[in-house]
Amino acid sequence: MNRHSFDKTQEVRTKVLQGMSLIIALVALVVAYVNIIISKVYILGAIEVLLAVFCFYTYYKTCVSASKVWHRWAVAYAYFFVVFLAVYILKTDEGITHWICTFPILAYLLFGKKHGLISSFCLLFASVIPLYSFLSLGGANSLHLIVNLGLSYMTVWTVSHIYEAMRYSNQETILNLALRDPLTKAFNRRALQSRFSKQTVIDEPVCVALIDIDFFKKVNDKYGHDAGDAVLTQLTDLFVEQFKEDNVFRMGGEEFVVVINTDQQAAYDLINCLIKTVESHKFTYEKNCLKITISIGLEELVTDSFVDLSKILKAADGYLYIAKDNGRNCAVCSINNSCLLYTSDAADEED
Ligand code: GH3
Ligand code: MG
Ligand code: MG
Repeated sequence: MNRHSFDKTQEVRTKVLQGMSLIIALVALVVAYVNIIISKVYILGAIEVLLAVFCFYTYYKTCVSASKVWHRWAVAYAYFFVVFLAVYILKTDEGITHWICTFPILAYLLFGKKHGLISSFCLLFASVIPLYSFLSLGGANSLHLIVNLGLSYMTVWTVSHIYEAMRYSNQETILNLALRDPLTKAFNRRALQSRFSKQTVIDEPVCVALIDIDFFKKVNDKYGHDAGDAVLTQLTDLFVEQFKEDNVFRMGGEEFVVVINTDQQAAYDLINCLIKTVESHKFTYEKNCLKITISIGLEELVTDSFVDLSKILKAADGYLYIAKDNGRNCAVCSINNSCLLYTSDAADEED
């Protein structure tokens, strides 16, 4: 399922990367100046200049084109490395160890929950253990510094973890509200439009089956609206079982779309099986056993050109109309410009 137009995670990470690249580049230039001109620590200063150049380059790249995943890893780990190097060279001078506490925030913002957690864990050990070994020679104050650094690092780490976990869960909630039907939990019309947006070009055969329950109003009239709801939910489960969750969409009412990633002939065979399955399935509500049938209009998407979803749905709707007109419980599509009609009675006779 293409959720990218609604999922803002990559956009957030790119923005963070841009801001971070720019700030690190500017800060690296300033500290490089201090290290080379004032402190005369030439190697560290030179590495900081390289970091600044690399960060400016990444900033420029992410502004003019889409950022790549490696940009994030490269900028973050280049930054971590330079901070480690500065701590190693300068020890506790100028409070350089404070920068270590920025690691978890950046790791979570750039890599997400899982990689943020792994990176924060590794970076804690990578910073505290070597620090302990070479600072412990300096006496009690060094121990205090390491304890304080470790505790403040863990505080920032915990907050970053909670923040990212909440952001992820909020985003999932928003995506579900925007893209799923509350009754059946199937994807909705908006999700289908997002999957086949106007910029979509497909290079492999894909078919769209527009499915409508036959005489559904009678189910509601006879068994009640709740029974109708139960049928809709159970029917969705049947579709999901056969075509996978990502391909099932409730368009509204008792109308569904199933996306089938095959050519029309193969899709036609599949939906004929589906018609049989639904016809023989026993839907249940309380102690009642309900039987329904479905009618389907099938249309294939044109490959190697921009998808026109409304045109496809209109064509499928035309075939669905013919299916209803031909007595329902059947599928209609156009193969080689001629209409094919399937009815389960005919199929049973063939069997
Ligand atoms: P046809 O074979 O021509 O499609 O007949 P039909 O009765 O299925 O079609 P019609 O358009 O006359 O009725 C559709 C019914 O679907 C009417 C409406 O009450 C019912 N319906 C739509 N959405 C829901 C829903 O969310 N829950 C329930 N229980 N019923 C719904
Ligand atoms: Mg209908
Ligand atoms: Mg109907």
